[in-house]
Amino acid sequence: PQPLCKVVLANNIAKNLLQEVAAGIKALERPPQLHGFLANRDPAGRMYADWTAKTCKDNGIEFTLHEVNAEELEEALRQANKDDEIDGIIVYYPVFNSQRDRTLQWTVSLYKDIEGLSPQLISNMYQNIRFLDPPTNTMKSILPCTPLAIIKILEHLQVYNNILDYGKRLFGRRIVIINRSEVVGRPLAALLANDGAEVYSVDVTGVQQFTRGSGLKKQKHEVIDKPDLALRDVLRISDVVISGVPGDKYKVPTELVRDGAICINFSSEKNFNPDIKEKASIYVPAIGKVTIVVLMRNLLRLMENRPRTNGT
Ligand code: NAD
Repeated sequence: PQPLCKVVLANNIAKNLLQEVAAGIKALERPPQLHGFLANRDPAGRMYADWTAKTCKDNGIEFTLHEVNAEELEEALRQANKDDEIDGIIVYYPVFNSQRDRTLQWTVSLYKDIEGLSPQLISNMYQNIRFLDPPTNTMKSILPCTPLAIIKILEHLQVYNNILDYGKRLFGRRIVIINRSEVVGRPLAALLANDGAEVYSVDVTGVQQFTRGSGLKKQKHEVIDKPDLALRDVLRISDVVISGVPGDKYKVPTELVRDGAICINFSSEKNFNPDIKEKASIYVPAIGKVTIVVLMRNLLRLMENRPRTNGT
């Protein structure tokens, strides 16, 4: 018998989002100006930059790529922050592949940061503060792009339940995230828990649980170490499995995944074996195309926020 699993491709998920973004771009007085900064020799970085250029061109965004020396990047970013002609900035990481990349993330103005990696944006996200201008609440805070892409995928797949109130739509869902990096796994766990999910965050050091407490009593998520739990325990009980382990060696053990689970891979390698289709109800093999639309959506949001700021 044919497996029941539905394979959902990022391209199809991106289409709906793209329509929303395209309408927003059309309504602007002038095309958005996005500037990319490439300062590494990584072919993946180059590919990502080419991909940004193509997506921008197709959607009425003017994209300029700056290829700069890594040592000159920080100053180039400061200049870009000050330049009123520039609406959004994207840096292709890793640049130094060390703590120093963090300094670059701090340098990009939070009013131009389409990746959502500025410290104030990240801090708002962890505290579940959704606006940049409380209590007026007219300027929505920007979320980190890859975690937001995964949220958009979960919305598309109706894991978010629209019957529930905004901010609680994952109440009752159990989600495993295999990856706890500072750019994807940890912020994603916090965001999903802030929306009401019971999240199990798994990395090489073990399992942590992110929740808003029983009955969502807490205003923001809390984190508890779960030394007694292993991946096998949390896979067995989870409705959604999101995996992002780098490298081609790692595979999520299919036999431990719950029957009918929703499985999403965000690693650049395949973290799921082909037989996942005999277990999962929905399988999303890659997410990159959604991430790039989310970057454009963040750019649009920055432009909507901008008239009320001084641009720096
Ligand atoms: P990272 O190296 O910073 O983090 C890797 C994480 O995986 C860490 O938390 C680590 O503990 C965990 N991990 C490693 N081996 C593990 C194992 N055996 N079991 C459980 N956890 C394990 O990487 P990153 O920046 O988070 O990127 C991860 C992957 O996601 C990469 O393949 C990257 O290319 C991809 N990525 C994709 C997008 C996209 O939009 N598609 C965006 C960003 C990153």
